[in-house]
Amino acid sequence: TDPRVVALTRDLNPAQREAVTAPPEHRLVLAGAGSGKTRVLTHRVAWLIAVEGVSPQSILAVTFTNKAANEMRGRIEQLINVPVRSMWVGTFHGIAHRMLRLHWKEARLPQNFQILDADDQQRLVKRVIKALDLDEDKYPAKALTGWINARKEEAERPEHIQDTGDFAMRQFVRVYTAYEEQCRRSGLVDFAELLLRAYELCRDNPDIQRHYRTRFRHVLVDEFQDTNKLQYDWLRVLAGDRGVLFAVGDDDQSVYSWRGARVENMLHLQRDFLGTEVVRLEQNYRSTGTILRAANGLIAKNSGRLGKNLWTDGGDGEAIQLYAAFNEYDEAEFVVNRIRDGVEGRRRYSDHAILYRTGAQSRVVEEILIRNRMPYRITGGLKFFERQEIKDALAFLRLLHIRDDDTSFERAVGTPPRGIGATTVEKLRLWAREQDISLWAAAKLGQQHLGRSANAVNQFMALIDAIAAEGKDLPLSQLTELVIARTGLRDHYRKEKGEQAESRLENLDELVSAARGFELLPLPQGDDQLPEMDPLTNFLAHAALEAGEQQAGPGEESVQLMTLHAAKGLEFPVVFLVGVENGLFPNMRSIEEGNIEEERRLCYVGITRAREQLYVSYAEVRRVHGVEQIGSPSQFLKEIPSETLQETRPRAQVLRPAFIARESGYGGGGYSRGGGGYGNSGGGRGGDEYPRGGYAGYDRQNAARTLLKESSIGPGGFSLGQRVKHAKFGEGTILSFDGDGDRARAEVKFKTAGNKWLLLSVANLQAL
Ligand code: ATP
Ligand code: MG
Repeated sequence: TDPRVVALTRDLNPAQREAVTAPPEHRLVLAGAGSGKTRVLTHRVAWLIAVEGVSPQSILAVTFTNKAANEMRGRIEQLINVPVRSMWVGTFHGIAHRMLRLHWKEARLPQNFQILDADDQQRLVKRVIKALDLDEDKYPAKALTGWINARKEEAERPEHIQDTGDFAMRQFVRVYTAYEEQCRRSGLVDFAELLLRAYELCRDNPDIQRHYRTRFRHVLVDEFQDTNKLQYDWLRVLAGDRGVLFAVGDDDQSVYSWRGARVENMLHLQRDFLGTEVVRLEQNYRSTGTILRAANGLIAKNSGRLGKNLWTDGGDGEAIQLYAAFNEYDEAEFVVNRIRDGVEGRRRYSDHAILYRTGAQSRVVEEILIRNRMPYRITGGLKFFERQEIKDALAFLRLLHIRDDDTSFERAVGTPPRGIGATTVEKLRLWAREQDISLWAAAKLGQQHLGRSANAVNQFMALIDAIAAEGKDLPLSQLTELVIARTGLRDHYRKEKGEQAESRLENLDELVSAARGFELLPLPQGDDQLPEMDPLTNFLAHAALEAGEQQAGPGEESVQLMTLHAAKGLEFPVVFLVGVENGLFPNMRSIEEGNIEEERRLCYVGITRAREQLYVSYAEVRRVHGVEQIGSPSQFLKEIPSETLQETRPRAQVLRPAFIARESGYGGGGYSRGGGGYGNSGGGRGGDEYPRGGYAGYDRQNAARTLLKESSIGPGGFSLGQRVKHAKFGEGTILSFDGDGDRARAEVKFKTAGNKWLLLSVANLQAL
């Protein structure tokens, strides 16, 4: 037999092999987590090129992240030993962006259009709402931004929205219209717009449509369950009658319905892509039997599934460890201790992933990791390119490019402060709106509106022009350096004190290094690259599109942190699923809306990321939005077959002397538990309140909690979670204890008065 065939099918089971080697007809591979869908997709591309003789040019492959795209390309080249540079592989956004760069004229965009990230988009919408004199309480920017994006995902422009006479809806449409106008004038394209523009381009321009339909004979899509309507329609337009679709997905892992994803797209395939055959894969190659049993048991509680089960012929492995933490710090300590054990054994840091429901949960985990000097990396979440100082520098860079970019103008004009006040900017804005011109133009032409700030504004504009002239022929990294130095950004952050400022300075340096990477890119050539893109535009587009994905360099050794959403498609030997509490996971909103199936799918995604060992934990007390809340274990924990779970209470570990001794290191770590937020909320310290000692007492207190937890009865005969009444603060619940004898105190969460630390000897609490 043909050695190429052997090489490409050797590592596949019969069902996988059938999918990979199928004749060129539409296929849907519908299969559970870890069953090899992504592997099949990759092998399918290699097969098409190496065996079917399809040109890499004729292939369009859509992946879930940019990182996955790079990995796929690398893997394919490895499999068939030929470069596949001319193949289009990327995310929906990345591919749309590429098309718009190639066909900016036809898409009616300026050649140097810039991408507006989510944060800037919301700011711009907010400004539009203000400009239209709408009440921001009734028309909040966040809601309107979400609404506009949802319209775009339905391919609805303002003129498509039917006027039902509803007053509020009319205002929505006004905002949408004005926002579009602003974007047009500033040469900005938001994320949803990238997709919509590219879709319209392919739908409405016959030449372009013909071009791509002739070109893309094979369209392959990973994570198909998370495509939205617009993406689906775009695929249809691109494939036309002759393109062959190969989609892989798992309805049980559909976790983006809140962003418009439609799992029904899987059902529509057979209607819209005639003859689509469904292939199922059920053997899992990723996880141990125990982990799979847990995942299967949990997801079985969902209704309306397309139905599939996973099995493995590997061993059962170890039980899933369940840890009930006292609070989020204890939880993070638990995780860190387990990682330390792992690394002292045969594991590497990068074998461990910590997954959480919301990005905010990473903060405490990071704090404990830093304190224990463990290297870590966050994927997604707080993105490098979204940091304040980075956005400041980028605003200047963008302004150098497009002076009419109002969003960047507003940011740059005020950072660092240069004596141009909010009133001046407001006046400028009003006048610009009246004249229907950009802020830059307004500042140039409307000097009479600037009053005493005229000088400062002129200096600002002269500075931008000067940097532009000076930097014209500089390589990108030097231009970036020039911007950081000449605008005063570096000095500005140097004056700031503390660790934060230091890390900001480091980040600015890092930006210069990042820019250097874009000088080294090969020059664009042929229609497969991104033509007409200078390094700066390329760099800014990258900043917007690939911001959240950090690519670990070779030999990079760090613990992986990410949200469950960002973990989709990935796998790790050891996974920690933290914060598995009702209200957090499943989150409050889904509980209130009686819709927790998507949360359950997310939990299924989390469990199935683990290859060998899974740890699940929840905290009995957790601060959420600055308020301590008593957590109860997530209902998902009850739905996971109990024989797969094993409770772990590493009491000895928590109480070991080293742990307690470490307390001295808790000093100025930047996180302040004393003072304002924590215990004495509201500031009014009643006579019997015990002022919290700040951060230093944390571990001791925690150790005390450990002890108390074993007995569960605290000083004065009170117990954790007990409901009590206080003469002044009213009813509350005991969260924790500290100290003993006369110094014994309890932390009580009062219904109205917030959290208080009370000396039990004087507080005179009544049990309820
Ligand atoms: P997810 O639903 O999480 O995206 P998936 O279905 O895409 O998962 P893959 O990531 O492709 O699954 O594969 C899971 C793991 O199983 C990978 O480590 C992959 O290399 C391995 N694998 C898949 N098929 C085989 C096989 N036939 N033999 C050996 N290992 C396999
Ligand atoms: Mg996959």
